[in-house]
Amino acid sequence: MTVSIWQADDTQPLYEVDVLIIGAGLVGCAAAYFATQMGRRVVVTEMRDVALGASSRNAGFMITGPDIYYHRAIEHYGHDGARELWKLSERTHAIWRGFIRDGGVPFHESGSMLLAESAEEARELELAARALNADGIPSEFVSSDPLKRGYFAAVSQPWDGAVQPYKLTHAALHASGATLINNNEVYRIEQPDAERVTVWTRQYRFEARHVLLCTNAYSPLIHPYFVGKIIPTRAQCLATAPLPESASPASIMPVCGYSDYGYMYYRMTYDNRLLIGGGRKDYKTLENDTTDDRITDSVQRYLENYLRTKFPDVDAPVDRRWAGIMGFSVDGIPLVGTLPDMPRVGFAVGFHGHGLAFGAGTAERAVDYLLNGASPGVVGAGRLG
Ligand SMILES: Cc1cc2nc3c(=O)[nH]c(=O)nc-3n(C[C@H](O)[C@H](O)[C@H](O)COP(=O)(O)OP(=O)(O)OC[C@H]3O[C@@H](n4cnc5c(N)ncnc54)[C@H](O)[C@@H]3O)c2cc1C
Repeated sequence: MTVSIWQADDTQPLYEVDVLIIGAGLVGCAAAYFATQMGRRVVVTEMRDVALGASSRNAGFMITGPDIYYHRAIEHYGHDGARELWKLSERTHAIWRGFIRDGGVPFHESGSMLLAESAEEARELELAARALNADGIPSEFVSSDPLKRGYFAAVSQPWDGAVQPYKLTHAALHASGATLINNNEVYRIEQPDAERVTVWTRQYRFEARHVLLCTNAYSPLIHPYFVGKIIPTRAQCLATAPLPESASPASIMPVCGYSDYGYMYYRMTYDNRLLIGGGRKDYKTLENDTTDDRITDSVQRYLENYLRTKFPDVDAPVDRRWAGIMGFSVDGIPLVGTLPDMPRVGFAVGFHGHGLAFGAGTAERAVDYLLNGASPGVVGAGRLG
């Protein structure tokens, strides 16, 4: 996360560009698409390679809406805010579906199900469904367990689906036509005058008219503005070995399942593995405020115990375990704005466990705000003061 004086001595060649996007995750690649659509010459610089941050480590759930249940979102963000977030999420899914279609990205129209792990969560789900229905969103509440796995209730969102996120990120970058420079970490950003920004990276010194930070969890390492606003938070998954054909996805897990207020999630992969993620609720001190993306024994044990308890019919070993770093924002929704000391440096960060719900639509707003001054609406960072 740092660049030594030996790796780059500030004599790197100059590279001039209209818009420089920092970070080639889902959000950076979608932002590149919108900036090129506006006729700009765009370069994406990435310290690793395309999608190697959270964007290829997630579970691939395209779930509409925020990561708290809808009636709670109304309490947190106001009724207009919650409605706008829902629309932003629908817009995001429409953009992803375009990349999915044009890029031949694996996608399963499975729908999603919010599931209750307790009677108390069942009541919350019922209230969420009522609030959604009152806003004309036809989600369906059932007070029993449609999956027969011991859940207390469910809300169905049949329009959701399960995507291959690594390929989706590549498809977004490809659709953008932007130039990618990988293995190229940014270590200093300055705005010397009102018209341009200088960005020092390991390989080049960029002169850009505009810069957009799409660095999510890593943003506090780049600029102090993000300290206390973005909290890097680890999330972990496991996947079983492929199940035999007799264990069909329909019998094991036909939907994207999401329970324990979003702390647990599970789906089938395209090669018939069961993927389970989450399990950090009891280990927050260990999992919060870290950019270390190694797995931890405690969370992996929790996930494996969940697998064996909830899915006793899955008789397959765990084949893969991984972790990734999410960028939590202080109030739970993304942040779009420009840096107070560098008005030509914008940002679209803070996607929690819901970058597939908000990433593309937020990237679109961030580009429109940076290049045209359009209001970013509910995700505007101005709300934090
Ligand atoms: C285990 C796990 C499960 C998840 N499941 C889901 C899910 O099912 N559905 C969902 O909607 N969301 C999920 N998420 C969240 C989702 O993955 C993120 O919200 C989304 O990927 C954020 O995209 P991003 O482009 O903002 O961030 P990232 O993909 O992290 O991209 C940021 C990029 O910036 C680069 N970068 C950082 N600093 C620098 C620098 N100095 N110079 C150059 N480059 C830099 C990084 O290398 C990285 O590639 C999950 C996350 C994890 C970890």
